[in-house]
Amino acid sequence: MMTEKVVLITGAGRGIGAATAKLFAEKGYAVCINYKANSKAANLLADEISATGAKCITVQADVSQEDDVKRLFSIIEQELGAISVLVNNAGILHQQTRLEEMTAERINTILINNVTSYFLCSREAVKRMSTRHGGKGGVIVNVSSGAARTGSPNEYIDYAASKGAIDTLTKGLSLEVAAEGIRVNCVRPGLIYTDMHADGGEPERIARLKSKIPLQRGGQPAEVAEAIYWLASDKSSFSTGNYLDLSGGL
Ligand code: NAP
Repeated sequence: MMTEKVVLITGAGRGIGAATAKLFAEKGYAVCINYKANSKAANLLADEISATGAKCITVQADVSQEDDVKRLFSIIEQELGAISVLVNNAGILHQQTRLEEMTAERINTILINNVTSYFLCSREAVKRMSTRHGGKGGVIVNVSSGAARTGSPNEYIDYAASKGAIDTLTKGLSLEVAAEGIRVNCVRPGLIYTDMHADGGEPERIARLKSKIPLQRGGQPAEVAEAIYWLASDKSSFSTGNYLDLSGGL
């Protein structure tokens, strides 16, 4: 009998994470939907996934907090079994502004939510996946952003810099664990239709920018999910430390 593979997707109640959770469930994974505050969205998604017969749990945990991350991983172990795939996806951005207006509090909040969280979840995953620790290997997919390349001037260079850190984490960690059965890659989405743009104060941001996108449209969360799934699957078995841009050519 084949053992069911287990995936943790952080920040999976909404947006790209939610589309990714649905796709992994369709492909036969047992899915852990992590969320921070919006239990309603996470539970609705879990009901939708469970109705298809897939195994699915929701776990509230602020992945920027070490104790929450430890609790999250031990719940997964108890309820679903050994983790095979970690998708580091949870992320935030704040109101569009220039550097002169950024407080240390704002910058630190962005960094712990977008960077510390990926480090902590990756650490717990590596401890369980690495053959060095008796694990069977696994895959980590980081959701970075095209912002790591553009720097997001006049919008949120704090957010863009946090994603630059994720690109570097992807490279360094991939090399650190390459001989231990773990692949680490990242996707770098461009403009994707989710709630995130409203958090920056411009819900219609994609409408303003889409004529600059060579494909002339924003992307859908499901299109990002497909790339994440590919990087998690054996179809990408020779890829590690790589970045997959999903930006409609921008
Ligand atoms: P979204 O719709 O705003 O959803 C963000 C998700 O992250 C929510 O489920 C939220 O939980 C969760 N979250 C935030 N901080 C968390 C924390 N500390 N602990 C646990 N969960 C947390 O965003 P999205 O657009 O899907 O973004 C997903 C990822 O894609 C992010 O890393 C983002 O930077 C990246 N990205 C997005 C775009 C885009 O155009 N949308 C482009 C490039 C990259 P709650 O639901 O509980 O609030």
